[in-house]
Amino acid sequence: MRAYGWNKGQIVDAEADVLRELAERVADGEPIKKVAADLNERGIPTVSGRPWSSRTISRSVTSPRAVGLRERNGELTSDPDVDPILDVALWERVRDRINDADRKRFTPQRRRQSPLLADVLRCASCGRPMYLTGVNYMCGAGACPKPLTIRQAIAETEASERVLVRITSGPWLDALRPVAEQGAAHWRAVVEDTHQRMVRLAEEFGSGGPQEAFDAGMVAARRTLADAERHLATLAAVDGLPALTEESVVEWWVDTAAEDDRRAVIRSVVDTIVVNESAAPRGDRLVFNWRVGTDVRRS
Ligand SMILES: [Zn+2]
Repeated sequence: MRAYGWNKGQIVDAEADVLRELAERVADGEPIKKVAADLNERGIPTVSGRPWSSRTISRSVTSPRAVGLRERNGELTSDPDVDPILDVALWERVRDRINDADRKRFTPQRRRQSPLLADVLRCASCGRPMYLTGVNYMCGAGACPKPLTIRQAIAETEASERVLVRITSGPWLDALRPVAEQGAAHWRAVVEDTHQRMVRLAEEFGSGGPQEAFDAGMVAARRTLADAERHLATLAAVDGLPALTEESVVEWWVDTAAEDDRRAVIRSVVDTIVVNESAAPRGDRLVFNWRVGTDVRRS
């Protein structure tokens, strides 16, 4: 079968335009799946007549042929029979982008630093945190009257689904937009200022200031600090989002988000998840304590 863009070595103009558009969109970081869906929606045919897939697009835009080269014994040489369609700089950007994406996808999870639901799950019997041991999250508290256990896969799947609903329901995005507009630098400055404020409070108290003012000041400062740090973690996590829209959030959550990113987002919407006994009715096994301001608009 012929390569998309050329027919017997001659450039097919309409296809060359599509190829350039694809290369630019991919190089600019648009998810390939989304680009494929868009082409299919616009009714643009492939050479085989089958719908566009991520695979077909990657192959077309990274092929040496796109810049008039061919690969022989692992070396690229110019191919006198093929006119280039893409310019080399764009083609290199595309190849970098796709290699990065593949590397992310196929590298086994870099030593999982902490499990997806670390610090979030609570044992219903004793209220203490649960830890991942083998394939289960377990209550490890020695004093627990009835330590609970839940399968990692069950807990993580349900939490992922519930959190996805939460973060695509409107309020979360509405709350995130101003945070994102202010930018990470702003929140880093807040962290810095708050640390200084805490030092000042301690100094004032140390030189005879009233206990109440110190306590109240510290409570407020700690809250500000925790919020700013959570905003920073969320902003870092959603850095790969093309736009703060429901559609891109879904695609990002399902396809491209790294586990670290998802963990940070879970933290941003969930305070704790209480794990009940396995005898609890389906749906009551996990009780989500959502953070304020992340309510589902209409459920
Ligand atoms: Zn327990």
